[in-house]
Amino acid sequence: SRVDIATPKRTKDIIGKHGFSFKKSLGQNFLIDMNILSKIVDAADLDETMGALEIGPGIGALTERLAQTAKQVTAVEIDPRLIPILQDVLAPYPNVQVVHGDVLKVDLQEIFKQNFTDVRKVSVVANLPYYVTTPILMKLLEERLPLQNIVVMIQKEVADRMAARPGGKEYGSLSVAVQYYCEPELVCTVTHTVFIPQPNVESAVIKLKVREVPPVKVADEAHFFQVVQASFAQRRKTIANNLKARYFNEGGREALEAVLSEAGIEPSRRGETLSIEEFARLSDVLLAANR
Ligand code: SAM
Repeated sequence: SRVDIATPKRTKDIIGKHGFSFKKSLGQNFLIDMNILSKIVDAADLDETMGALEIGPGIGALTERLAQTAKQVTAVEIDPRLIPILQDVLAPYPNVQVVHGDVLKVDLQEIFKQNFTDVRKVSVVANLPYYVTTPILMKLLEERLPLQNIVVMIQKEVADRMAARPGGKEYGSLSVAVQYYCEPELVCTVTHTVFIPQPNVESAVIKLKVREVPPVKVADEAHFFQVVQASFAQRRKTIANNLKARYFNEGGREALEAVLSEAGIEPSRRGETLSIEEFARLSDVLLAANR
């Protein structure tokens, strides 16, 4: 019978057979632990009616498990040296498509149209390259793809920021952006020993349940995200000082105070204390005032 890819022995065999060497610059830390793979795949709520999009399949450890669980799997890999390896090890799984490309550059709408024709919904499942975690997740969310959820291994510190609630030092513009599109849930933290080679940061698996509609309604989304960014521009400054720097010129103090008062926000508060509802109200009042 077949031997699973995600074991230390089979991984070393595949790497040795193909003379593969790890590229640190591509965030290549491969999974060699079946238990952690089970946790990731279980969290994605896949079944034989679902599609799975994997980013960075490596030598296919996770891809293989996805192929056994979902109806259709598409895996996007940037490293050309891995494409023939993936074609070899994944040959037993006709429901897998390997796409060679940079996930930040490929046309995901087109991939969804071509590859996920016959599935109910799609989950993104990945052990992400840590150097591009945030751009990848923001691209997936901003494109409003028909996603059920996103289950990804990322740096623990980034997972904590995504799931952070108002009031703590981990709460910032990333928390608000992620929580606008999703409900985050930490699945587990992960020790270094499940990877080869071992990364030098702590890791965690996070599940982002994609919302049908955002938790707040704003007049202008781009403006909302800009206000959030501005509010955290200098974390030690008050909301009034951060907004003044971005939206009001000298002498705009009164106008600024009127905006904050109408939005029901004390000028002495800091961005990190504002809920997503408060940011939404602030964004709308500010937009109306600046028209
Ligand atoms: N999924 C495999 C596993 O769990 O063993 C490999 C995970 S490894 C952390 C990240 C993978 O993403 C590598 O295979 C790397 O080559 C690939 N990668 C890095 N940047 C990428 C990008 N911009 N687009 C697509 N794949 C990328």
